[in-house]
Parts: sequence; C-alpha cells; structure tokens
Amino acid sequence: MTEGDCLFCRIAAGDVPSDRVHEDDLVVAFRDISPVAPTHILLIPRRHIASAAELVEADGALIGRLVAVAGELARQEGIAEGGFRVVTNVGADAGQSVAHLHLHLLGGRRLSWPPG
Ligand code: 5GP
Ligand code: ZN
Repeated sequence: MTEGDCLFCRIAAGDVPSDRVHEDDLVVAFRDISPVAPTHILLIPRRHIASAAELVEADGALIGRLVAVAGELARQEGIAEGGFRVVTNVGADAGQSVAHLHLHLLGGRRLSWPPG
C-alpha cells in the first residue's frame, strides 16, 4: 500500500475532501462520512501505518498525540462529560475497512457494551 492508493493518505494530503476538525504535524482528524453516533470523528496519523498491529514502541509519541487530540475533540464536541468511546478496528474480524490506522471517536448517545 502506498500513499497514492490509500484513501486516508489521500485525505491526509488534502487530495480527497473531508470535513476536517483538527490537523497538526502528526495527526489529522475529520468527520466520518457515514456516522454511527452524533459525534463520529476519525483520527489518523499523517504517516501510513496499516493498523494498530503495526505499531512499535517508537511510535509512542504519535499514539500519545492521537489519544490526546481525541480527548481535546471530545471536550470541543461537548461529549467529554457525558462520556465517549475511542476505538480502533484491526483486521477483518474487527471490521477494519480502511487499511490506514484510525481511531474512531464516538459519542453523543448511550453506547452499548459489548460491541457487536
Ligand atoms: P473501519 O471500518 O476501517 O474501522 O472504519 C473506516 C471508517 O471510514 C468507516 O466508519 C467509514 O464510514 C469511514 N469512511 C470510509 N470512506 C470515507 C471517506 O471517504 N471519507 C470519510 N470522511 N470517511 C470515510
Ligand atoms: Zn495510508
């Protein structure tokens, strides 16, 4: 998978439009095109990483940024107090459909557990 044929690399580069809610040197966040909750934001690293299974210890600062930005966005969206979920799907059994690491930030309604 190279940048040219990865949807989220193209979104990060601005070649595919998205409703961006955050960007910095490491991370881009945008609204999911098919939201499953009132707040449904995807957070991605600018660098292509296929999934959380590919992460190594040296990626610690990147993961820290992704999670910290998720918390910031939850506060901005007004869902921090009521509660929210940050989740990443890895592989076919988890339903990962885009092979570029992304965190889903979900909130604004009661979320069931366990997930389906
Ligand atoms: P996954 O199923 O891999 O965990 O999550 C992929 C997410 O990407 C899905 O929730 C899907 O709705 C979202 N998605 C797929 N294509 C696009 C797109 O072109 N733009 C945006 N904003 N979201 C997308
Ligand atoms: Zn990519």
